Amino acid sequence: PDGLPALAALDTARLDWQRDDTGEQAPRSLAFDDVYFSRHDGRAETEHVFLAANRLPERFAAWRQTRPFVVGETGFGTGLNMLCAWACFDRHAPPSARLHLVSTEKYPLQRDDLARALANWPDLAPRAERLIAQWPEPVAGVHRLWLDERVTLDLHFGDTRERLLRLDGRVDAWFLDGFAPSANPEMWHPALFAAMAARSRPDATFATFTCAGVVKRGLAAAGFTWRKVPGFGRKREMLAGEIGTPPVDDRRDATPWFTPPPPQRARHVAVIGAGIAGGSVAAALARRGIRVTLLDRDAPSAGASGNAQGALYVKLAADTNLQSRFYLAGLMTSQRWFSQLDPDHCLWQPCGVLQLASSDKAASRQARFLAHHPLPPGVVEGIDAAEASRRAGLEIAAPALDYPQAGWVRPAALCQRLAESPGVMFRQADVEALTRDTPTECWRLTMTDGDTLNADQVVIATATLANRFAQTRELPLQPVRGQVSQLNLPPGAPALSRVVCDTGYVAPAAEGVLTFGATFSPHDSDTALREADHAANLAELEGMLPGFVDALREAGAELDPAQLTGRAAVRAASPDKSPYAGPVPDAQAWRDAYAALAKDATRVPATPGRHHGGLWISAAHGSRGLASAPLCAELIASRICDEPLPLEQPLVDHLHPGRRLIRDLIRGA
Ligand code: SAM
Repeated sequence: PDGLPALAALDTARLDWQRDDTGEQAPRSLAFDDVYFSRHDGRAETEHVFLAANRLPERFAAWRQTRPFVVGETGFGTGLNMLCAWACFDRHAPPSARLHLVSTEKYPLQRDDLARALANWPDLAPRAERLIAQWPEPVAGVHRLWLDERVTLDLHFGDTRERLLRLDGRVDAWFLDGFAPSANPEMWHPALFAAMAARSRPDATFATFTCAGVVKRGLAAAGFTWRKVPGFGRKREMLAGEIGTPPVDDRRDATPWFTPPPPQRARHVAVIGAGIAGGSVAAALARRGIRVTLLDRDAPSAGASGNAQGALYVKLAADTNLQSRFYLAGLMTSQRWFSQLDPDHCLWQPCGVLQLASSDKAASRQARFLAHHPLPPGVVEGIDAAEASRRAGLEIAAPALDYPQAGWVRPAALCQRLAESPGVMFRQADVEALTRDTPTECWRLTMTDGDTLNADQVVIATATLANRFAQTRELPLQPVRGQVSQLNLPPGAPALSRVVCDTGYVAPAAEGVLTFGATFSPHDSDTALREADHAANLAELEGMLPGFVDALREAGAELDPAQLTGRAAVRAASPDKSPYAGPVPDAQAWRDAYAALAKDATRVPATPGRHHGGLWISAAHGSRGLASAPLCAELIASRICDEPLPLEQPLVDHLHPGRRLIRDLIRGA
């Protein structure tokens, strides 16, 4: 319904292994009847065909820009090319340079096959390990991997042409790989070259192993110039070339308001709000070498991110929509992000999350979800009550969806850790106003105590307070009070081995304390603890897991609302329940430019949306911030740093903070 490919497991690559005289084990695709790399010397072939012909050693050595150098590839396969590009970058690039790798893959290898293929090159082993550890589940979409401090890999799983059409980013050097045109004519379609051209930086280069006529013609028609250069080994010739001036990106012609603002200086960025939204933006920017001041009127995580324990999970709609796509991408991103941020599991536990279908209605909704979303079991799996009981470690009476890699997080500790990231300066201050100094193109932050701070750019991540500034006043935000309850467990109390959720959740106990909740009270900003809310949480827990609650009682737990402890906080929600992540629109300029759409919505002016230069927002994460904030942080940091984005363009636009404003303008509201 949203025009994007189905959210389903992709077919993984079916391989045949051949050992050659040197002992290398070369994978061969059974479907395409072609090899992934040369059996004679795959490594040397990659260096010759893709690295040297794109002049990467020289270009890396000369790279002085603040944005990363971007390599794009069609057909990730075993990752050999990209790992070699990374090694070449480390050998030649100056310390300040960064590298961004973007690669498409329609038939991802299974993790074991990937490990086996890459085991051929012991000197690539540390790099291969980073890749294998973060290897995503085979789901269409963008998967961002943090290879090291300077190198990022975005895997765009799905068909190359379809993926490039939705890529929000531009490439400096292309590795035009993929099986031979004769074996894979579908990929080497004229539209492939047009999509590459449209996603190219000025003067982008390409290199490919093939000299097939269809490739030469396609490249030329798309605006690339090509020349034959000596091929590798027994192959006499290959192609290399470049595009001078790429075509303009016309994908936002029908929605010019979503045109991103041009990149600006970002040596020092102020992030307001030190919860998970602000903390993750601060860490993402600091990783890119930007000096960050993180401000909060309280200590880090005083708001809704301040709970000792929180569940990392999402609720996906039975029928696919952009919001579900975003949350699934967010969940997978958070799982990967937590794993690399905290490999020792001090801040989070990927114990798995069971989402129960306690009523017939819920069960049929889950059945519909599974029918529409045949996702890999590593992402989500439908299981019956017996299996749910086995996985949770206690009696469960309902079927469930199991998210085996989700789990629970210590949000307060996480926010503290993010505020202490290298390159981030935390400052306790209440920012009252933002003013733009036009000649210096600087933002001035004024604090309630009269102090000021200057920054090149500002990210607002203050939940319900995010629209307190003159520039964000029109952003609709709703407070939603949430109270969690905590119970000290007596010895011998039953243990839970997964997070279990229905309308509320309960997590496995941490340090002898069971956390469950949370209440959900829209339009309520009170943070005082309420006994009635504890009672509601208890009732919810009992309704979800009656046997568990009985066993707690038998063990002597004090299940009395008057005795429970807990915490209440206020989250922020948008009217459509998706977060806001992106540049802050200049509402008056939008009104001036787009008001006529109320009379005739078909006459879209060619005016790009004006934004408050260098002002960004990450807010309205509701009660799912653990799943949404890290991806939104990467999105904003990537935009600020002029990098490819970690989400498809339709999803980027879905999160745009101006979406409500333009909807209202078109409706004449
Ligand atoms: N670059 C790879 C490496 O370094 O190992 C080798 C690539 S292998 C020769 C070709 C790859 O392209 C395979 O992994 C195959 O699944 C992928 N592929 C083929 N057709 C595709 C398509 N239409 N879209 C995306 N990937 C495709």
